[in-house]
Amino acid sequence: MKQLTLALVAHDAKKADMAEFVAKYENDLRPFALFATGTTGGRVMERCPSLSVTRLKSGPLGGDQQIGAMIADGKIDVLFFFVDPLSPHPHDVDVKALMRLALVYNIPMALNPATAERLIESFRD
Ligand code: PGA
Repeated sequence: MKQLTLALVAHDAKKADMAEFVAKYENDLRPFALFATGTTGGRVMERCPSLSVTRLKSGPLGGDQQIGAMIADGKIDVLFFFVDPLSPHPHDVDVKALMRLALVYNIPMALNPATAERLIESFRD
């Protein structure tokens, strides 16, 4: 079976949640090719040093758009984007554009850990 690609993005207030989430589900996530925006990827790799994560640019510097472009190219199968709804983000247009492309291309997209958990369960055989 083709290796699935999972993109990880977390707003600053959600990065600790993302790192803990990935640690909790490390074995489930190991089979995926993992991509992440720069800072999120750094936090995840710090927490789970044995996981291999391809880090793109930091979100505000274009990382969200890089993931969006990968979605448009059919290179991302699943997106976990842990969103902080309580803070303003200077790169909000990029955030919206990423979500929009995930919708356009009908990519499974978890915006919080509860949904990501359900999604991961759905990939178990
Ligand atoms: P970051 O980007 O992981 O580089 O912080 C995430 C974001 O778009 O806020």
